[in-house]
Amino acid sequence: MLIGPQNLPSRLEELRGRIEAAARAAGRDPATVQLVAVSKSQPAESVRAAATAGVTDFGENYVSEAKAKLAELEDLPLRWHFIGSLQSNKTRVVAERFDWVHSVDRFDIARRLSDQRPHYARPLDMCIQVALVPERTKGGVAPAELADLAARIAPLPRVRLRGLMCIPPPQPDAVAARAMFARLRELLLQLNAAGFALDALSMGMSGDFEAAIAEGATLVRVGTALFGERA
Ligand SMILES: *Cc1c(COP(=O)(O)O)cnc(C)c1O
Repeated sequence: MLIGPQNLPSRLEELRGRIEAAARAAGRDPATVQLVAVSKSQPAESVRAAATAGVTDFGENYVSEAKAKLAELEDLPLRWHFIGSLQSNKTRVVAERFDWVHSVDRFDIARRLSDQRPHYARPLDMCIQVALVPERTKGGVAPAELADLAARIAPLPRVRLRGLMCIPPPQPDAVAARAMFARLRELLLQLNAAGFALDALSMGMSGDFEAAIAEGATLVRVGTALFGERA
């Protein structure tokens, strides 16, 4: 089926229904789960259609693609989340134009974002990406190094450390997926026991957001289940 702006409202309604059902099944208030619509490779007109249908938060992976798209959509009061891997020479656009960054796994990136965050904007909300399974390609800090990294980021003046993010490799079933997300929640609880006050768990994509919600996700990053397959 071709997903165009015309059938986006019904896709959104179905997606919201699934998010709500997963939250209720976990005994959670559905309002505590924020949908971040992942719009990478989608044209600005699809973002506009989703915004018209009521989506407020969008996620982008690539700085140059996002820069052009944000410029086209400047008239809309949207919250933008950067969720891709970030090179140090691309931090400025994210610091200036985004509301959240989910994918920080190095101190120097966090420091640059803090330095470059304009003073007219509120501090940039930030999650640390954790590699639950050692993986070369997708980034993320190893769990053993997480507490040190969090302790260095937390005092930065122009960012606000909010929580953790993960992109686990596809799991064979929902039980295995939940086990992954439970580990991220556990790491967040450990940090909070050590004195942090983190409130965000960015976990769950189209294939596994229900399992993530069952384990406490507060931000779910969903692309294909809303916009259809990427070109
Ligand atoms: C592409 C992407 C998503 C969305 O994936 P879907 O499977 O299309 O829902 C979520 N998070 C990250 C980091 C991504 O790169």
